Amino acid sequence: MEHSELEQKTKEYLCPTYARYPLSIKSASGCRLYDLQGREYVDLLAGISVCNLGHSHPEIIQAICSQARKLVHVSNLFFQEEQVLLAEKLVQTCHLDRVFFCNSGAEANEAAIKLMRRYMSKVRGENRHELITFSGSFHGRTLATMTATGQDKIKEGFYPLPQGFAHVPLNDVQALENAVNENTGGIMAECIQGEGGIKLMSDEFKAKIRELQKSRKLMLIVDEIQTGMGRTGSLWAFEQEGLEPDMFTTSKALAAGLPMGALVAGDEIAEAFGPGSHGTTFGGGPLPSVAALKSLEIIQRDGLVDYCRDLGQGAVKRFREVSSKCPGTIREVRGRGLMLGIELEFPGKDVWNALLEKGFVLNLTQENVLRLLPPLTIPRQDMEEFALVLEQVLLKHNYSPSDKIGQSN
Ligand SMILES: *Cc1c(COP(=O)(O)O)cnc(C)c1O
Repeated sequence: MEHSELEQKTKEYLCPTYARYPLSIKSASGCRLYDLQGREYVDLLAGISVCNLGHSHPEIIQAICSQARKLVHVSNLFFQEEQVLLAEKLVQTCHLDRVFFCNSGAEANEAAIKLMRRYMSKVRGENRHELITFSGSFHGRTLATMTATGQDKIKEGFYPLPQGFAHVPLNDVQALENAVNENTGGIMAECIQGEGGIKLMSDEFKAKIRELQKSRKLMLIVDEIQTGMGRTGSLWAFEQEGLEPDMFTTSKALAAGLPMGALVAGDEIAEAFGPGSHGTTFGGGPLPSVAALKSLEIIQRDGLVDYCRDLGQGAVKRFREVSSKCPGTIREVRGRGLMLGIELEFPGKDVWNALLEKGFVLNLTQENVLRLLPPLTIPRQDMEEFALVLEQVLLKHNYSPSDKIGQSN
């Protein structure tokens, strides 16, 4: 199919939920994407932090193919070895004890919200059902996770929303303190907001979260859906933030491109989910489980976490150099590991387009933040080439001071 026909048929047959890039991807390998004409692109997006090992990793393909020949799906009514091996491996990576598997990020957060409520009511016998989340956050598109999300634009037209959610401006310590009341059960947070524009929490804010977790016995739920699986230079981002979640959720990169989500919780909390209390048909099936197992094995064996931390530090420095060579264009460079944001002084659509024309695929979020989430396996050379091209593009860009947009927070 030609690109124009594909575009036409997409309009005709699919719900118009996405503003798509002017690009049809036919195949991919490593850190490269290929369009219908065979044009090559450097992938600095990795399917929004899904393909952390790059595309078509031979060992992932091998694991999926051999599992597909053995067993693709079996109901959660049966015991399953692949699922158990994965849960054991996940638990070994952190301080928590039990896993619930599902199929997406939103479902993992939905499970976390349900488990918090159930634990508070069944185990603690308290009506502490309210969840605090932060402005700019993104937690998913189901009714509850959309309500948890701290961005009004995604809620338009979907009212009435479920009850039990409170929102606090990110990094506003006093507002966080004030938001806690006798109904508050927990806090849900991303260590680095992805969709929100690569925003980090301040040290004081994290200290306040830790304090509330102890003094008010609030449950801390960390959303590692985008930050997990090595993305930020540690396997889980909370390791670097000095946070110790009572539960965390992960998804995107978990099964190396297959749909899978997971909620990881401590024993006492996990026990609040009795048989029949929660579930999902496909959750933790053999196929995504082997892909996730293999993925974790490769990340650990190949030292990808260290590589990504190191490469990310270099990239931040490099982008700051670009910033000083192109005054008035870059407002801030931020991020950890290979979760990087380049905030521009002006709306970034033209810069984004120019980069795409030069063969670099990345994301523009919050109108002016170039978001980079390349595979953790990306060669240094590709990052360097991107920096050179970014510099060229910014130097050529006709930026007028009247385009300048206000500070976002
Ligand atoms: C992508 C994302 C989600 C939602 O995951 P889906 O698989 O799209 O449901 C939730 N939280 C964060 C931080 C995400 O990046």
